[in-house]
This record gives sequence, C-alpha cells and structure tokens, in this order.
Amino acid sequence: MSLCTKALAFLVLVILAAGSWLALRQPEKPVVLPATERPAVTTIPASPPGETTTPEPERHLGPLGDAPDWAALDAYQGTISRKDFEQLLDTIFTTGSGWRSYFSINDQEAVIATDASDSGLRFHLRFAAPDHTSPAPRHWRTARELPPAPPERPLEGLRIAIDPGHIGGEWAKMEERWFAIGEAPPVCEGDLTLAVARLLKPELESLGATVTLVRNDSKPLTPLRPETLMAAAEAATDPGGDVRKTAERLFYRTAEIRARAEYVNRTLKPDLVLCLHFNAEAWGHASNPSLTDHSHCHLLLNGGYTDEELALADQRYEMLRKLLQRTHAEEAAVGADVAASFYSSTGLPPYTYNPLSRNARMVDGNPYLWARNLLANRLYDCPVIFMEPYVMNSRHDYNRIQAGDYEGTREIDGKLLPSIFREYAGAVANGLKTHYAKVRQGEPLLPEH
Ligand SMILES: [Zn+2]
Repeated sequence: MSLCTKALAFLVLVILAAGSWLALRQPEKPVVLPATERPAVTTIPASPPGETTTPEPERHLGPLGDAPDWAALDAYQGTISRKDFEQLLDTIFTTGSGWRSYFSINDQEAVIATDASDSGLRFHLRFAAPDHTSPAPRHWRTARELPPAPPERPLEGLRIAIDPGHIGGEWAKMEERWFAIGEAPPVCEGDLTLAVARLLKPELESLGATVTLVRNDSKPLTPLRPETLMAAAEAATDPGGDVRKTAERLFYRTAEIRARAEYVNRTLKPDLVLCLHFNAEAWGHASNPSLTDHSHCHLLLNGGYTDEELALADQRYEMLRKLLQRTHAEEAAVGADVAASFYSSTGLPPYTYNPLSRNARMVDGNPYLWARNLLANRLYDCPVIFMEPYVMNSRHDYNRIQAGDYEGTREIDGKLLPSIFREYAGAVANGLKTHYAKVRQGEPLLPEH
C-alpha cells in the first residue's frame, strides 16, 4: 500500500474514531447521550481513485483503536457452552438488543461479524459440549487457582497492578479533574489517587502480594500529546467545535489509557488491576465550584456495553475477550468483598445510576456493584476493580481532602476520622484480605455467571 493510501486510510480511521469517541464518557458523569451525539457507524471507502491496490476491508473501530486480531480468539474454541455464552451476554455484557445484528447463535457456534454487519466477514466460535468445557487460556489466575496461603499472608503470590486514575500534576486542569476554592490548595483527582496508591502498595505487600503502580508520578505514559493529535482531532470535531479540546481528550483519556493498557498487558501481566478514582458531582466552574452534601461509593466491573459500542468491531472483540476469559465471575466475587469493606469503613451509601441510562447495569442485585464499559476495564487483560468512592466536591469529603494525610484520627466536621487517603487504602486492602483469605481456605465463591 502506498504512503498516500496509508495516510488516507489513517485519516478515515481517525474520522470514524471521532464519531465513536463521543461514546467514551467519563466514569464520573454517567449520562445518556442524546441521539445526535451517539456514534455514527460509517463505512470506510475503498482505495481512492487511481489506486490499484486491493480495497481495504471496511473497519468500524473506536478512537485510536487497533484492528482486532480475530484469529487470536481461536484459542477460546470449545471453552464455553452456548448457555453460559448467552447468559453472560444477556445479563452482564449488553444493555440492549442491537448486538444481535452482529451475532448469530445456534447450538454449535456463535457466528460473529468481524466488521460491519453487512460486510460478510465472520468469526466462528465453536461452543463446548455442556460437560466438556476446557479451560479458557489467560495469563491471570483466579483466587481459587492460587495455592493455599498462610492466614496472615492471604495475598501471597498474587500479582496486583494499581492504576491511579488520571495523570494529575500539571495535566489536572486539562483533564478537568481539578478545582480550587479560594486560596485553599486545589483538589486534583490524579494526585489524590496517586496518594492512595502509595499508601495501598505497602499494605498489599505486607499481605503477600507483588504490587506495581501503573504510574508513580504525574507524567503521562503515552508519548502522544495534544499537539501531535491535532490532525486526528480536527477530523473528529464537528464544524464550529473546539478542536483543541478534542485533541486534549484524545491525549489524556484515549491515548493515555491505551498506553497504560499496553504496559499492563505486555509487561506487568497481573492477576488483578485496581483502578483508583474519586467520584465527583458536577461542580461547574473550576475556580468557583459548587459543593454538595452528597457523598457515595460504587465499584465498576466490565460489562454493560451499549448497542452503539458493540457496533464497533474492536469493542465487540475486546468484550468477547473479557467474556471468554471469564473475568466477570472474578470481578464480581472480589468486588463484592471490596464493596462490603468500603461500606463497613466509610458507611457511604451506594451511587445509583439513572434508571434510564443504558450504559450501566447493577450486578447481582448489589447496589454498590455496576457493570460498565470503560476503556480501562475493557482493555486491561485481566479482572479489573474500578473504584469510585467519595465525592470530591461534597463539603465533608472536601474538608477531609483539605486535611491531607495524617496518622491516627483528627476531628473533622465534629467527628474523629482517619485521613481519607488511609481510609480508602485500608478499605481496599481489607476487602482483598477478606476475599482471598476466604477463598484460599476453600470457602465457595459466588455462583458463576
Ligand atoms: Zn476519576
């Protein structure tokens, strides 16, 4: 393919990416997009006039997404029964019925469109006979697959990657994860999550885990910058829209999370990723933010893909990898114990999604556990627990954040409390301790989905 064709193909991909990019919503602000903002699925034209190369196959990919290697799913042939496959799709991984345009299922196999539903390109996934399932290949291990551990070191041998959400530091304003009230130190989510990660790492290590921080400073992992993404952003922005803002989002959200996924999947290969975030409610202007009296907590597991997301070939493929590796059962089991631990140490009520939202679904009737399709929990190739406790702009949590980190307790709003950072780290560590101690002593897990 000539350079010119490659450049054109890239440009068209970028344009496609633009439409679907709007589907990537910040985890903190779940919304239902109006129809006009939903990603359009467009067809890539064949080679430009005058070219004699074979036309590129049609591609429907998310922003900066890689074309899926469908043949890699051959490793999962005969590893799941039809019943389990359909049940996972129906109850966890989808929120609508539009996915059925891309899947045709019979007793022997699922036939899945690898591109546009009318492209004719299909991947055939053979089902296992009901009593002949073979294990799905994956690099991570469930709690049950780990050998027994001494009671005081229930995480022994477990490889954990901690992903402190956002970049923070000088990027926090661009990320829109920054606000300041008067002369008080600003609140930067990326710095708060890193503070928790640094407290959590030694706690988990003392329980026996091998722990790596996906980032340990306020620098991006991606070498891309808004400046290098301007051409992509220009193509991705509606007429009259803010191209610079689009380039910034492609940088700090899409490119950055893709770079972290590369590091997690190729280098760290952990058994579990912990994505640390602090939630917030809409605060308006960053230099004159509105405060709220509400605080809450919820944990996100991968699932809840919308019809629009599953119209994209890369998201369909990545969802299948999660489904076939059975990450959900592990995320739900670990998540339930971590959620219970958050409740017992913070007393925070659950966050409830708008019942009209089509991008989240409650898991196992547990109001603290929600399935959502986020770039991080989709791309990290192992179970991911994505945490959203506290509300940074609630009056009480803001006062606790302003108090900083400290040992023991201090009086805040009339109550003696530990530092919010230690409370957060302790809740995660205790939840994992409870879960792995229970399973590695042989108590049964929650029923699988
Ligand atoms: Zn966040």
